[in-house]
Amino acid sequence: MKRKLLSLLLLLALLIPFTGCDSLLSGLTDGGADLAVPADGKTLTVSFLDVGQGDSILIELPDGNTMLIDASEADQAEGIIDYISRRGHDTLDYVVATHPHTDHIGGMAEVLEAFDVGEIWMPDADSDTQTYENLLETVEKKEIPLHVAAAGKTILATESLSIEVIAPCSEQYDDLNDYSAVISLTYGKTRFIFTGDAEALSEAEILKSGVSLSADVLKLGHHGSSTSSSEAFVKAVDPRWGIISCGEGNSYGHPHKETLDLAEKLGIELLRTDLIGTIVMTSDGQTVKYGDNESGGNADADDENQADPAPGTGYHWVLNTSSKKIHREDCKYAESISEDNRGESNKSVSELEAEGYTPCGTCEPKD
Ligand SMILES: [Zn+2]
Ligand SMILES: [Zn+2]
Repeated sequence: MKRKLLSLLLLLALLIPFTGCDSLLSGLTDGGADLAVPADGKTLTVSFLDVGQGDSILIELPDGNTMLIDASEADQAEGIIDYISRRGHDTLDYVVATHPHTDHIGGMAEVLEAFDVGEIWMPDADSDTQTYENLLETVEKKEIPLHVAAAGKTILATESLSIEVIAPCSEQYDDLNDYSAVISLTYGKTRFIFTGDAEALSEAEILKSGVSLSADVLKLGHHGSSTSSSEAFVKAVDPRWGIISCGEGNSYGHPHKETLDLAEKLGIELLRTDLIGTIVMTSDGQTVKYGDNESGGNADADDENQADPAPGTGYHWVLNTSSKKIHREDCKYAESISEDNRGESNKSVSELEAEGYTPCGTCEPKD
């Protein structure tokens, strides 16, 4: 199949060859965040926007430039545009569309229309959705310089600031989530890692690539799904804070209990957009601050997390073990499955598909 992104790249004559994981990240492989601490102490601000079940992250760089990672669903575009405008910006210098799922790129075309855009980074993932077509059309129409996001690429590098793409490491995946552009942002001694919806498979590839992962803040993959945030990966990042961007009462049960348990086990403070709204963090290159607390952590938010443990219910699919169909619990067809053929599972749809199941076309269970 012809890859749409590559055709557009050829059209824009900006094709940058894929480099893969083997040849990457020479500057960031020897452990820890170790760039020069900025003498001017200028602030980097990262806002994890409260955009329901989706991702959208605004990064205000110390030099005043801006970067946006994802733009959630289409109905969130107005709020995202409003937030960026209220913070005094009319330009997005760098935009990353992590992967072509609507909860990441749904609002992107509208956001791109609203601002001057310096450049956009996207993985070379194929999608036939109208949302993705609209995004590519907007990029083409506005003649926004387009870069393929792949491990080893550098978005920006100065003495004290570096923004690297550390995944995807491969060119082909079965799961669109694994195409997610994973971004490592290092400012002085501090680091943020933004994972999109990268699943355990991509996390393992990142680990294998040998890139330095130790970070202050990890945006946990796939809204806190148990199919991301493998223990080895989260341990390697060893963040002070884990961010979960998800919608209150979302139908996927995000974040999953396994992810919450892992965070607790590893002593990671979780901050969730569904519980506390937009999360704003800053770094002066020495320390990351959240709220007014320089040593880290917002006591109120922490209390809230402890007092109100997340439901973390996981998936609750009903299976027809005879027809090999996956249903939502409330699907009318789930109710009529005979006792002998009825099963339940808390595995993800993709895991079940790997076992030969197919999602019901009526209730459309999705990860
Ligand atoms: Zn996704
Ligand atoms: Zn997502």
